[in-house]
Amino acid sequence: MPATTSSSVLRAHALAKTYGSGDAAVQALRDVDLEVAAGEFIVLLGPSGSGKSTLLNILGGLDVPTSGEVEFLGQRLTGGADDELTRYRREHVGFVFQFYNLIPSLTVAENVALVTDIARDPMPVDEALALVALTPRRDHFPSQLSGGEQQRVAIARAIAKRPQLLLCDEPTGALDYATGKLVLEVIARINRELGTTAVVITHNAAIAGMADRVVRLADGRIASVSRPERRLTPAELSW
Ligand code: ADP
Repeated sequence: MPATTSSSVLRAHALAKTYGSGDAAVQALRDVDLEVAAGEFIVLLGPSGSGKSTLLNILGGLDVPTSGEVEFLGQRLTGGADDELTRYRREHVGFVFQFYNLIPSLTVAENVALVTDIARDPMPVDEALALVALTPRRDHFPSQLSGGEQQRVAIARAIAKRPQLLLCDEPTGALDYATGKLVLEVIARINRELGTTAVVITHNAAIAGMADRVVRLADGRIASVSRPERRLTPAELSW
């Protein structure tokens, strides 16, 4: 199956990324073509070093490819000015990483407000916290929360600006099984209820059952693309 769909929000064509040069050059991505449909839930799988983070960072405008192009809603992101890429990232992309990167001296609500204060059309902080089921913890500090709760704050912060894209790099990598599932439930809910397009990196193949499409990377290339027959809820997954 080709890695393309009709109504795409993101379109990557012939992406290549090389880090370093000469003998030290590492080719992290080679000839990657991928279209992501609006509202789609994509899981990116592949062994460590296969290029998953590099691809996600380029799709989210955190990094630029060495060659090839990326379009967001028909607009080229590659080859433009840095401030255009920054604007794209700020307005349209929410990132969630393995570690939560919360500000320890700010409360949960204040961490989310950091984003809503500067976004163009944010949702109210309390609406974002309700979506991740953290309303009762709004005035707590990150150190008073479990890892899974801190990750849910990070997700609230990522979605509070109503981004079109939610890009998650190993969001459950630091969490235990049950907590990881709760975090996946939250990501699935945002995708379903807000229609936010989600791309989630994992090395855990069981999580692929949640996806509309599963893209497997190997050695910087797309090795396969598959579409699970039925999208499972995180509760139905086991690993
Ligand atoms: P994955 O997310 O699948 O683990 P990455 O995209 O992080 O893979 O890395 C792909 C390859 O690029 C790896 O060989 C990695 O060592 C290399 N790489 C990633 N980032 C850099 C960097 N900033 N400088 C040099 N090499 C890098």
